[in-house]
Amino acid sequence: MKILLVAILAVFGFVLITSEMNGVTAEETAVVCTETCGGLTLTEEEWRERLSPEAFRILREHGTERPFTGKYWNHKGTGVFACVGCETPLFSSENKFDSGTGWPSFTKAVSDEVVGTRVDRSHGMVRTEVHCATCKGHLGHIFRDGPPPTRLRYCINSVAIVFQERDS
Ligand SMILES: [Zn+2]
Repeated sequence: MKILLVAILAVFGFVLITSEMNGVTAEETAVVCTETCGGLTLTEEEWRERLSPEAFRILREHGTERPFTGKYWNHKGTGVFACVGCETPLFSSENKFDSGTGWPSFTKAVSDEVVGTRVDRSHGMVRTEVHCATCKGHLGHIFRDGPPPTRLRYCINSVAIVFQERDS
């Protein structure tokens, strides 16, 4: 299903088709990237082997971790947060802000190409779901109550990302 996200589109310029989203869970999953990374497509069984049960629930089954329970909501390090499913760098600490929500929050991704979005009508709400463009793993949702300049809030599950420290 292809859906136009009018305002999000204006900023990020593209829409992704996600007909299939299984799960990826990874909290302490130190996923070793293999030759399959980059346009990564795995079976559900392969994802289950690759990810922790929690990461599978979030990434492949669109789960959400409880607020203030993840390892990154209050994380202050300088570096990049990569997809736990495929190690693609997704968010920079430069764009991380304290949203008070209990989930790691960012004003934007490292580039427009690394994430995709689609409309999520689950749980009686209409939200914009955001996922990794490479492995299609569910990351979280985007809301319009973020700080300038984007005014967007990428609300991301800690379990879906892994921090890679960089010198500031
Ligand atoms: Zn990924």
